Amino acid sequence: MPQCEHCGNQYDKTLEITYDGTTHTFDCFECAIAQIAPECAKCGVKIIGHGMEASGQFFCCRNCAETAGVRGLQDRV
Ligand SMILES: [Zn+2]
Ligand SMILES: [Zn+2]
Repeated sequence: MPQCEHCGNQYDKTLEITYDGTTHTFDCFECAIAQIAPECAKCGVKIIGHGMEASGQFFCCRNCAETAGVRGLQDRV
């Protein structure tokens, strides 16, 4: 029985998500988000939408990126 690598739950309908070249196994999206969703470098929220990436850092929105000193990003949502 596959096992969620975040909470350890064993479940027969697990999700497999390949992220950054590594395949992860989870029992639900919530566990996947908790484990692999990037966090905003400014406010710390989990980024589960498109978000923004600049110079290796992730931001949840343009405001956070600009507050952190990153210029020229456009919201893509
Ligand atoms: Zn889980
Ligand atoms: Zn943010």
